[in-house]
Amino acid sequence: MLVGVTMELLRPLLTEITDDGLSLVGEVTAEELGLTADDALLPGPVAVSLDLTNIEGLVAVTGVLEGTIVRECVRCLKEYEDPLAFSVRAAFIQEPKSAPRHPKRIDPRRARAEVTEAEPEEEPDDQYHYQGNQLELAPMLREHVILSAPMQPICSDDCLGLCAQCGKNLNEGPCQCATEPPIPTVRVVRGMKRKTDESSTS
Ligand SMILES: [Zn+2]
Ligand SMILES: [Zn+2]
Repeated sequence: MLVGVTMELLRPLLTEITDDGLSLVGEVTAEELGLTADDALLPGPVAVSLDLTNIEGLVAVTGVLEGTIVRECVRCLKEYEDPLAFSVRAAFIQEPKSAPRHPKRIDPRRARAEVTEAEPEEEPDDQYHYQGNQLELAPMLREHVILSAPMQPICSDDCLGLCAQCGKNLNEGPCQCATEPPIPTVRVVRGMKRKTDESSTS
């Protein structure tokens, strides 16, 4: 079964996942994924291709997400478009209907510590819950997009960054300081030298 409409794409019904599984193929926007500009900047929709299987209520989701994302280079501080492509692997289990999620944790003094410590053991990163008869794939995909961000995004391996002295983007050409060796200790010495130069010429 193939579903291509966005609303249904990200919110499949359990009944749509037949014995053959369910394939979801389509394009989704940042808004539909619940991504704000602070989370990630997507210049256009991203292509989603997911396969869902339901094994006695445990829904396994695998597939790929591809698109383009705007990142800021840590060296030159310029925004650049980066290919966004990663595989998705997640499992959804049904949330218990009436019982509170953490019935044992009622002591408010200990609740916070216990939740943060105990949660990773109970729920692997890729495990999500669904309620009733419908999956919400958007929060899971949103998380994947956010986690795909590199710690140190760089526009290009050859990025020259900004001049530490005048701040010019060196990818756009050399600056006036570029003829000097860019070694900090030399910079200090040269600063001192310049002072003596000035005093000697004046
Ligand atoms: Zn850069
Ligand atoms: Zn410079």
